[in-house]
Amino acid sequence: MSITVRAPAKINLHLGVGAAREDGFHPLVTVYHAISLYDDVTAVAAEAWSTPVDGAAYVDLASVPAGEDNIAVRAGQLLAQRHGLSRRAALSTYKSIPVAGGMAGGSADAAAALVALDRLWGTGTPDDQLLALASRLGSDVPFALLGGTALGTGRGEIVEPWEDNGAWWWVVVPSEVGLSTPAVYRHWDALFPDAPAEPPPAHRLVGALKTGEPLRLAAALHNDLEAAAIDLRPDLGALIEKGQAEGALRGLVSGSGPTCVFLCAGAEEARAVAAGLAAEHPVVLTAHGPVAGAHVLPDA
Ligand code: ATP
Repeated sequence: MSITVRAPAKINLHLGVGAAREDGFHPLVTVYHAISLYDDVTAVAAEAWSTPVDGAAYVDLASVPAGEDNIAVRAGQLLAQRHGLSRRAALSTYKSIPVAGGMAGGSADAAAALVALDRLWGTGTPDDQLLALASRLGSDVPFALLGGTALGTGRGEIVEPWEDNGAWWWVVVPSEVGLSTPAVYRHWDALFPDAPAEPPPAHRLVGALKTGEPLRLAAALHNDLEAAAIDLRPDLGALIEKGQAEGALRGLVSGSGPTCVFLCAGAEEARAVAAGLAAEHPVVLTAHGPVAGAHVLPDA
C-alpha cells in the first residue's frame, strides 16, 4: 500500500519582522499564501527510512539531504514517537518547489510526510495535534498543512486562516543560486539595529484580500526582508524592476528570497509577463493561489 500527499509552496503576502528575541528567533507577523506549485510525497512501509527524490528539471535535487537529515524523515520519526511506534517508511518525493528558494519546499515535504504516514499507519492524529507536531519541525510547516491564505504569528508557526476572495495569478522566478535564510536575517539585523520588537501588522491586506481586486492587493504587499535580500543580491532588485516593466502589478522577493514573485492582473497577463522574463531567466513559472494545504491524492 502506498499513500501520496501533495503539499503546496508558500509565498508571503506580508512579512513583518521584529527585533530578534532572546532565543534568537525573530518575531513575525506574516500572511502566508499557498500557490499551485507542489511537492508530492509517497509513503510506503519499509524496514528503514529512505528518501528517493526526483523532480522538475529546474529543481536542484542534489542539495536535498538524504536519510535522517531530510525533514520528511524527521516528520516521520516525530509522528512515530508521538504514537509509540517503531515503524519506518520509504518517503519518495517529487519536487516542483525550488530548494532554498524561500518557498518552504522542505516544510511542504514535512507536512506531506505527516499526513501520508498518519494515513499509512492508521494513527488518525487529530488536526490540532498534527499542527502541534508540525510546529516542532519548523516555523512554516503548520501553514503547509493548512494551505489557503493565513495569518502567521510567533515565529510564523501559529497559524489562523484568513478570508481571501481572490483568485490571484503569480509569476514565480526561482534563482539558480540559493540564498541562506539565516544569512538574510543576519543582514537584516545589521541593517536595522534599532528595529522595534513588535513586527509591523498586516492591516492593509485584510481589505485587499476581501475585495479580490489585484490592484488593491498589489498596493498592500509587504516584505521587511526585501531590502536585506536585495542588498545581498542586487540582481533581485533588477529582476523586480524588469517584471514590473513587463506588466506585473507588483514584484517582490518571496520570504527571505532569492525567488521573486510577481502579482499579475489575471492568467493572460501572467503568461505575458512570464514570456517577457523568459528571455533573461532560464526558469519562469506561473501559478495561482490560494490552493489547498497538504492533501491525499487519489490512487493513480
Ligand atoms: P527556509 O525558508 O525554511 O530556509 P526554503 O524554502 O528557503 O526554506 P527549503 O527548500 O525548504 O528552502 O530548504 C532549506 C534547506 O533545508 C535546504 O537547503 C536543505 O539543506 C534542507 N532540507 C531538508 N529536507 C529537505 C527537503 N525535503 N527538501 C528540501 N530541502 C530540505
